[in-house]
Amino acid sequence: MALANENYLKIPESRFSDEIEKRVNAFKVLHPTTKLIRLGIGDVTRPLPEEAVSAIHKAAEEMLHPETFKGYGPLQGYDFLIDKILKTYRSSGIILDKESIFVNHGAKPDIGNIGHILGRDNIIAIAEPVYPVYENAAIMSGRGGEINDEEKWSNIVYLHCSKENNFVPELPDERVDIIYLCNPNNPTGTVINKTELKKWVDYALENQSIIIYDGAYHAYINEPDIPHSIYEIKGAKKVALEIRSYSKTAGFTGLRCGYTVFPKELMVYTRTGEEIPLLKLWYRRNLNYSNGVSYVVQRAAEALYSRKGRIEIQELIGYYLENAKFIREELSELGWEVFGGVNSPYVWFKTPRNQPSWKFFHELLYNYNIIGMPGIIFGKSGDGYMRFSGFCSYEDTEEAMKRIKSNY
Ligand SMILES: *Cc1c(COP(=O)(O)O)cnc(C)c1O
Repeated sequence: MALANENYLKIPESRFSDEIEKRVNAFKVLHPTTKLIRLGIGDVTRPLPEEAVSAIHKAAEEMLHPETFKGYGPLQGYDFLIDKILKTYRSSGIILDKESIFVNHGAKPDIGNIGHILGRDNIIAIAEPVYPVYENAAIMSGRGGEINDEEKWSNIVYLHCSKENNFVPELPDERVDIIYLCNPNNPTGTVINKTELKKWVDYALENQSIIIYDGAYHAYINEPDIPHSIYEIKGAKKVALEIRSYSKTAGFTGLRCGYTVFPKELMVYTRTGEEIPLLKLWYRRNLNYSNGVSYVVQRAAEALYSRKGRIEIQELIGYYLENAKFIREELSELGWEVFGGVNSPYVWFKTPRNQPSWKFFHELLYNYNIIGMPGIIFGKSGDGYMRFSGFCSYEDTEEAMKRIKSNY
């Protein structure tokens, strides 16, 4: 009898966004011609930068000829891309070794797979509300421990974020081993500044913990005191790995490419206290579970670092940030309590009249024909909130705000 990995059955269904589609489909059956605006989406909508597409054409052509054809590539990524990544870090004063960079298929697989190289009995700290993958991956890999009546796991320490702490996670009272930080945060769009982030790095140094730093939205940061990389903080190389992606930065959500930094100084420990470079374990893991990222896709990523590529990226991000700012201003004018939308494409807001997320989701859907992202999807402390994003077209964003403002 083939046994299932029952850890996969332990995630509450309510945490999945397919619940949204079920409810939207029910609406569509009754209102087949209504134009719905998806203002909650976490996916980009603008096409790829031209530079990336012409690099794809060129690389595809190379694959056609025996002299330039490429088979398996280097495990950690091609030098042409890794050099660009290192150079970009260097330009902000961060010196990393070539061996520390692992080009990947986007951030999500690494976020989930990092569990392969970490012990089972770690206490994991996760901010809430946050990107659900951190907690779900911990549960599915059997690291959650025991679940209680409140759907909380014994090996997970939940760092409750609320409007009282401006949705910035605070240090836990108890000792934790693995800390997930998402900065700028999804879904709240809020940011951890340098002073706050330093507290986490110092905590990790003191407790021999590690920080898994998700920088998927780093390119959206435009205020001065917000760190673009955790390595801007002294000592961070010893305690943090940093995950980045071209998805939200350059429209690569469908193309799939990113990278993770494992500094050689970053250590984990055996039960007897022996230091092991985490990089070594990740290398071994990749040796057996990966054959690298497509040459063509890595060429597309490389092209983003050209002069024209950089300008195109700035335009893309500017477009989404402009939308986010617009949403932020319009909702604020209605007197709603709004967070994020400055260093992030996400705008997070308290539902009017303190409604639970799903109730307000229906109000938006049925009264305004707008699909928002219910805050509760990101954890219980997200209930009573809603996420909008700047990822729609400007026209749809404007139309959506008009619909809401005309009636509120
Ligand atoms: C979108 C997103 C990712 C995943 O990005 P991919 O590189 O497309 O896998 C990771 N982390 C956060 C917080 C995200 O919002």
